[in-house]
Amino acid sequence: MSENKVRVRFAPSPTGPLHMGGVRTALFNYLFAKKNNGDFILRIEDTDQTRFVPGAEEYIAESLKWCGLNPEEGPGIGGDFGPYRQSERKDLYKKYADQLVATGWAYYAFDTPEEIDVLRREAEAVKETFSYGISTREKLNNSLKLSEEEVQKKLKDGNAYVIRFKMPEDTEVTEEDLIRGSVTFNTTKSLDDKVLFKSDGMPTYHLANVVDDHLMKISHVIRGEEWLPSMPLHVLLYKALNWEDTKPRFAHLPLILKPAGKGKLSKRDGDKMGFPVFPLEWTDPKTGDFSRGYREDGYFPEAFINLMALLGWNPGTEQEFFSLEELSEVFSLERVVKSGSRFDPEKAKWFNRHYFQQKTVEELVSLFKPVLTEKGVEAGDEKLNKVVAEIKERCEFVADLWEQSYYFFEAPEEYDAKTVKKRWKEDTSDKLKEISIVFESVENWNADDIKEAFSAFMNEKEWGFGMIMNPLRLSLVGGNMGPDLFVICELLGKDETVSRINTAVEKIG
Ligand code: GLU
Repeated sequence: MSENKVRVRFAPSPTGPLHMGGVRTALFNYLFAKKNNGDFILRIEDTDQTRFVPGAEEYIAESLKWCGLNPEEGPGIGGDFGPYRQSERKDLYKKYADQLVATGWAYYAFDTPEEIDVLRREAEAVKETFSYGISTREKLNNSLKLSEEEVQKKLKDGNAYVIRFKMPEDTEVTEEDLIRGSVTFNTTKSLDDKVLFKSDGMPTYHLANVVDDHLMKISHVIRGEEWLPSMPLHVLLYKALNWEDTKPRFAHLPLILKPAGKGKLSKRDGDKMGFPVFPLEWTDPKTGDFSRGYREDGYFPEAFINLMALLGWNPGTEQEFFSLEELSEVFSLERVVKSGSRFDPEKAKWFNRHYFQQKTVEELVSLFKPVLTEKGVEAGDEKLNKVVAEIKERCEFVADLWEQSYYFFEAPEEYDAKTVKKRWKEDTSDKLKEISIVFESVENWNADDIKEAFSAFMNEKEWGFGMIMNPLRLSLVGGNMGPDLFVICELLGKDETVSRINTAVEKIG
C-alpha cells in the first residue's frame, strides 16, 4: 500500500438505526474513496456499552448493502487493520492513555460521578455550567492536585478512575477543514478536559477514534458537522501522541435541514409530514416504537442514493440524475457546501418516479408479482406485461401499480356513487345490455376490433358516445379511471367484459 493511499472510514456507533444524515456520511466517504482509488472502511464504534442497542449494527450493515455502499474492510468482511469493532480492540487503547499520562498530556481523575454531580448542581444553582477543565481541575480529586504517593496509593488500592486529557491553556488550535476552510478554536474558551479512558476499562469515543484512525492509516476523516467541535481535541491528540505527520485531513459535512423552517431534520418531521428519515424500517427493541424506511416505502436504492448525493453536494452542472458509478467519477469535496441543505420529500418522490420510469416493463412485472401474490391474484405474463405497459406512465412506486390496475384483476364490488348519479340515466341499462350483445359477437377480441364493432353499432343507433362510454367504464372498473376503454376490454377478455356489464346493469340499473 502506498503511503498516500486514500483510506476513509464510516464509523457509526450502534446506538440505533442509521438516520439519513448517517447514510449521506457513508455515501460521501464511499464516493471520495472510489473517486480517489481508495479504500472505504466500516468501523463500528461501540465503546459506550450503556448506549448499545441490539440489532443496530446489523441494521447499519444491511442499510449499506441496500444502498450498494460496500466497504472494502469492516466487521464480517475482514481486512489488514482489524478487528473493526472497537469493543474487540479494547486492550489496545490503554497503553495510549498511559502514554499520555506519562508525557503530561493527560491525568488520572478519581472524582466519583456523585461528586461531579454535586459540582454540576452547585454551578447550576448560580446559573453556570460546570466544566472539568482549565479553571476547575486544580481543585479536584486528580493526579494534578494529589501528590505522587497519594496517586500511586489510590491506584494500588483499586480506586476507580478515569483518564482525562489535560487541555493546554489559552492555545489557538487551527485546522484546515476541506469544506469549511481554516477553523480556529481557543482551548480556554471552548474546551474542557475530556475523558479519554473510562473507569470500565473502555476508551471513550475521542481516544478510540483517534487511535483507530491512526492505526488504520485513515487519510481523510469525513463526518457530520456535529463532530466539528471535537476536531481541536482530536488535532491535539495527534500532536500529543506524536502522530502529527500522518494526521488525517478533516471534512465536516453540512446538516440536512427540515423541509420547512430551520433546524436539523428529525424523525418528528418525517412522522408529521409522512416520509421516512431512515433507509430501512426499524422497530426500537426497547420501546417497540416503529419507524418507516425508504426501502419498505417502495423507494429504489438508486433513487435514494441519487437524492442523498444532492443533499449538500452539487455537480456544478444542470445534471440531476446520477448513478452510483457516475457519482463515483464526478464527486469531489470541493463541491460540498458549507451551509445546511433542506430536504424536500416531494423531490424524493420525483427521483423515484424517474427511476421507476427507467425500468423496463419486464422488470416492473417481476417487482409487481409479489404484490399480486399477496393479493391472491393469479395472472399470466402476457396480461401482466400489457397491463403494466398501459399504466406505467401513471406510477412512481411499485405499490402504485396495484392502485392503478387492481380492476384488471378484480371485478368492481362497488360503483363510484357520484359517477353513477351523474352518468347512469333511465335508459342506460337497456343500452348497455345491447352493447354487451354486440361485444359477444366480436370475433377477434382486440381493442381495434372491439372499437370498430362498438362504433359501427353506435353510429347505426345514432347514440351519443359520451352517454355510453362513461357508464360502460363505470361497469368495467367501478369508477371513471383507467386507460383507453377498449384496451381495458381487451385485457379483461370477452367473458369478463360481458359479465361485468351484466353485473353492473343488475346492481345499478
Ligand atoms: N462514532 C461516531 C458517530 O457515531 C463517529 C464520528 C466520526 O466519524 O469521527 O458518528
